[in-house]
Amino acid sequence: NMLFPNDQKPKILLMGLRRSGKSSIQNVVFHKMSPNETLFLESTNKIVTDDISNTSFVQFKILDFPGQIDFFEPSFDSEKIFGGQGALVFVIDAQDDYMDALNRLHETVIRAYKVNPKLKFEVFIHKVDGLPDDSRIDTQRDINKRVTDELNDSGMEGIHLSFYLTSIYDHSIFEAFSKVVQKIIPQLPTLEKLLNIFNSSSGIDKAFLFDVWSKIYIATDSSPVDMQSYELCCDMIDVVLDISNIYGLRDGEGEHLAAFDKDSASIIKLNNSTVLYLRQVSRFLALVCIINEDNFQRPGLINYNFLCFREAIIEVFEIANQKNDGILALVSN
Ligand code: GDP
Repeated sequence: NMLFPNDQKPKILLMGLRRSGKSSIQNVVFHKMSPNETLFLESTNKIVTDDISNTSFVQFKILDFPGQIDFFEPSFDSEKIFGGQGALVFVIDAQDDYMDALNRLHETVIRAYKVNPKLKFEVFIHKVDGLPDDSRIDTQRDINKRVTDELNDSGMEGIHLSFYLTSIYDHSIFEAFSKVVQKIIPQLPTLEKLLNIFNSSSGIDKAFLFDVWSKIYIATDSSPVDMQSYELCCDMIDVVLDISNIYGLRDGEGEHLAAFDKDSASIIKLNNSTVLYLRQVSRFLALVCIINEDNFQRPGLINYNFLCFREAIIEVFEIANQKNDGILALVSN
């Protein structure tokens, strides 16, 4: 566990009413379930802990709560559940009447904030694929206003909530999870700085550091993210993993050894003068870049810079406890 020492793993608590989509989100993002398969998921009736540390670089726990939890029941240990570093993700079904959900959210946030004011509060306005395009932002505004007014009325102005429009049928759920995860990675500013330096030295337009199996990006350079670039990079990961799964190394029994290892790399040239460039950084991390063809005349330079970048990234996580920034020495064009 390079990222966080022992039991200090940040955790993500997934909460919301029954049938709001919690298990679907968890399965689609972290277990590669296809969205259509979620139609057959059984409803969650107890608190489920899903430790994804074996497949993900980001070491966090997802606690999938059943919708109707009684906070005042003695068996509900709120110190244990809300304590520590992490985020509370509250899922609201936007296709349903959401008044009950908002009451529940209000109650939950206040309860959790009292135990742990450092917890990040994230609201997924979910299943927006069923809403017409132009009503999505209105729904978000309405929910945001109601929640904020209610909290103000209770004298809790200090609580900050972030809102996201999500659906498992497109990339929005991955993008939202990326933002949530980034907030609880202490090394984020350093990663961003390293990506900026790498990009400017290598003539790269956009670079994402991906948690490969979940397709969450844990960092990107400081230029704005457009959804299309992110989707393009996600698609590239799928292609690379699919090809590796089919043609990758196998052991004697025909089992896959590794669809993704330290030599994993791929270059895809698109016919709009864009080059996609993927390199493995560590067991679970990959760098995926978008480069203009004109800046891809000297792949050797990018390769060299990448190796420096990879070393720096690994160092950032190894020396994180000593509070040191990685130092990069790159060659420029
Ligand atoms: P949970 O009880 O909160 O865990 O909810 P489930 O994950 O079991 O989901 C309830 C239903 O919502 C399932 O039939 C899912 O297929 C459906 N669902 C989940 N996410 C979405 C979404 O983004 N869009 C749509 N249209 N349906 C979804």
